[in-house]
Amino acid sequence: MVEQTIIVCKQCGEAKPATDENYRRYYAGRKGRYKVCKTCESINARYRYLLTKSTPTEAEATEKDKITALYNLLKLRGLRVPRFGEGRTTDSTETVDKLLGKNEAIVDSMARVKDLPVTKEEPTEVPEELQSWLTCDLSGKDPEQLLNEVYDDLRDKYVAEYKTILEKVLTRFYDYEDEQLNGSE
Ligand SMILES: [Zn+2]
Repeated sequence: MVEQTIIVCKQCGEAKPATDENYRRYYAGRKGRYKVCKTCESINARYRYLLTKSTPTEAEATEKDKITALYNLLKLRGLRVPRFGEGRTTDSTETVDKLLGKNEAIVDSMARVKDLPVTKEEPTEVPEELQSWLTCDLSGKDPEQLLNEVYDDLRDKYVAEYKTILEKVLTRFYDYEDEQLNGSE
């Protein structure tokens, strides 16, 4: 009678019942639901739209900066934000600072995360399983599954030691997802 399953949203970290109200179902052919809640999806859609505006109104610019700040906070908490929400903070750093209420600790750690010397951090020996996801043929695989299941398993297993490699695997899966989405349109 009552659907008991709970899904923890990959983006906001909230645990919500797996209902149509909270999570979309996968499209035909695959059981289950998306792992990002509808609330986050609507924020993402709005953000994507705001990014397309070359001359946003003041209200739109503020809204965009707020969402950017939100994405940054979620990232700090180790959650997954959409790819288009990454790496676009430079033009709005001032606003982000303001929004974060001069919370220097947070701003500091944001800067640190951003400035991590990637090459130094990268380990010389990478586990075979991890390495294989950087090179293997992805064709025929389901991008959703790569991003939600394969990647999450890898992250749980390797995050402590192989953060930078994991980021590369994630980027590769995102690229593949983009390819698939663009190819099917
Ligand atoms: Zn969410």
